[in-house]
Amino acid sequence: MFLRLFVIMLIIFFPISTKGWGFFAHQRINRLAVFLLPPEMIALYKPQLEYLTNHATDADKRRYIVAAEGPRHYIDIDHYREEYLPVVWRDAVTKFSEDTLNTYGILPWHISHMMARLTKAFQEKNSAQIMKLSADLGHYIADAHVPLHACSNHNGQFTGQQGIHGLWESRIPELLADQAFNYWAGKAVYIRDIQATTWQIVRESAMAADTVLKKERTLSIHFPTDQRYAYENRSGKLVRTYSTAYTRAYQQVLGNMVERRMCGAIFMISSFWYTAWVNAGMPHLGELDAKIFLKEKVLPVKDKMIGRQEE
Ligand SMILES: [Zn+2]
Repeated sequence: MFLRLFVIMLIIFFPISTKGWGFFAHQRINRLAVFLLPPEMIALYKPQLEYLTNHATDADKRRYIVAAEGPRHYIDIDHYREEYLPVVWRDAVTKFSEDTLNTYGILPWHISHMMARLTKAFQEKNSAQIMKLSADLGHYIADAHVPLHACSNHNGQFTGQQGIHGLWESRIPELLADQAFNYWAGKAVYIRDIQATTWQIVRESAMAADTVLKKERTLSIHFPTDQRYAYENRSGKLVRTYSTAYTRAYQQVLGNMVERRMCGAIFMISSFWYTAWVNAGMPHLGELDAKIFLKEKVLPVKDKMIGRQEE
């Protein structure tokens, strides 16, 4: 009885949860994006590999502290149905009001905003800002590649599939990325139209959301219920999570979707960083002082997120 209560308490306090791609995937994505950069940029970015990795999840951690942070990580495109969504923030505010936009997420507009800030940081040769904004922009671009970040049924809460958010974007990468994923993503390219590309990414994600949900639903019907979950010891805590067998089976029915979206995120992050640098006039980065980042603190992980949660 005590053991059972103990297990139940642990499940309550450590539910299957995730915020964004999951820390593992966000860190991996930001890290690998560095290697796609041209040599002129590698000079600044490579010494900051640990910084960009460790700070890949700052944007998610801010969701526990800053209320305005939440809507920057998603957009419920299905809410707007066939309505035209202006790509320029001011036009979108005029059409829908800021409140409405914040309710259903502002991810694509926020990416444009972050690109403008990163371009300015390059122009000013402000290396601390370049790294901080690159880490954050990487986070948002990675989120834009996640189908359930572009869909109102973001954790299967409308269809009895609670937990699917973490299954897709945390459990699969954590379990399979090292053995099964091929990260070849080419080289960073210049992006002529940042807004159009950003919206294309989120629309692709929105279109894939249906498959993400349907495939899990079908799988859950055919998969033995008692084999769907498992308990894992994580840092001395017993955590209920999707079993390895269920995770593998889900990955299989999705084809290589998670791998493709993860590779797409790596390629786009590198290309967005590169584009910001080109648009800033390709400033020389080699002479910028990289040591200042060593003092940077990593934000702590807190228990309670403000606003919408994906658990
Ligand atoms: Zn996020």
